[in-house]
Amino acid sequence: MADLKVGFYGHVRQYHDLKDEIDRAIHEVLESGSYVLGPQLAEFERELASFLNLQEAVGLNSGTDALLLAFLALGLGPGDEIITTSNTFFATAEAIWLAGATPVLIDSESKTHNLDVQLLEAAITPKTRAIVPVHLYGLPADMPAIAEIAGEYGLSVIEDCAQGIGARGDTFAIGEHSDVVCLSFIIQKNLGCFGDGGAVATNNADLAARIRKLRNHGSLKRSHHSIGYNSRLDDLHAAVLRVKLRKVEEWSAKRRALARIYDSALADTPLRLPYTPAEYEHVFHLYVVECADRDGLQAHLATHGITALTHYPIAIHQQEGFPWGRPVRVHAQTVTEKSAATVLSLPMYPELTREEIDAVCRETLAWCASGGAQKAS
Ligand SMILES: *Cc1c(COP(=O)(O)O)cnc(C)c1O
Repeated sequence: MADLKVGFYGHVRQYHDLKDEIDRAIHEVLESGSYVLGPQLAEFERELASFLNLQEAVGLNSGTDALLLAFLALGLGPGDEIITTSNTFFATAEAIWLAGATPVLIDSESKTHNLDVQLLEAAITPKTRAIVPVHLYGLPADMPAIAEIAGEYGLSVIEDCAQGIGARGDTFAIGEHSDVVCLSFIIQKNLGCFGDGGAVATNNADLAARIRKLRNHGSLKRSHHSIGYNSRLDDLHAAVLRVKLRKVEEWSAKRRALARIYDSALADTPLRLPYTPAEYEHVFHLYVVECADRDGLQAHLATHGITALTHYPIAIHQQEGFPWGRPVRVHAQTVTEKSAATVLSLPMYPELTREEIDAVCRETLAWCASGGAQKAS
């Protein structure tokens, strides 16, 4: 039997599934003549806030700017330390740097891959102003514990929810224990537009108003109150996102069902499978296994037409040029450095077919059976 090609993304299939609705939405925006800060954006912001059960959402051009503008609107900048983890996409630390603040990188926790809350207090100094938990791979960080420490030290909390839309903790929702939630709608995220997009969501009306100003050259109506940015979410993207937002719950359920297929098929291999704390709702932006010979497994899958990727092969503090001409505090990164060498993301998107996921499982099992994973533990 010839190998089935299994790609890493389902964007085009998703478009085909929703083609009529999406084409109509795009056509209506084109005919309306309202392309920037128009009614589609306003409607999307209302629907997104309601989806997240928060008061306000502000559409932006990217998740990176969502973080940056959140920091600036909270008054964070030069001289301030912001704690996050080194096990995240580059933009988390980059946005702290762009705000002029100092990234303080603590290690991730080995089972959840999220910021290790046990290490938080030791990283706090008199200059610390904020914490940025990342809901990595779609699994919420331990927000109640983070909020408790933040409360004790008077710190702001900014959630990097670029990978976690629709996720829930056991006793808490995204946004319930923070000042602001930052989202990304770049195409490969769980809710993606056709290109770049982002948003913040918050219950703090003043903060939302400041971010509205910052995204539009410091202007709310006519006059400019401050220096700002050009960081708006276009109405075309907003119209597409309105169609797709209605599907996010269904897609998350499909992602969880696919994760269960992987979980049971791969349970008896030496691979380390994703961990979900009891009662958490993981949204599996990525399904990440760990394996000592990660490169071997990735290469084996590739020879059978299956694309698996690594998130993230180089931790922030090991990137070229780090720390880019500024002091950055890096705590021990034992877990993050090990993850960088061992993580492999298997194909995971709602449009993945049963035949395709079975092929991924079959080839992964074959590789393990041939001794590949003997080196895995
Ligand atoms: C994607 C992502 C971002 C950045 O979002 P963009 O829309 O690409 O700017 C930030 N943080 C994390 C964890 C991400 O995955």
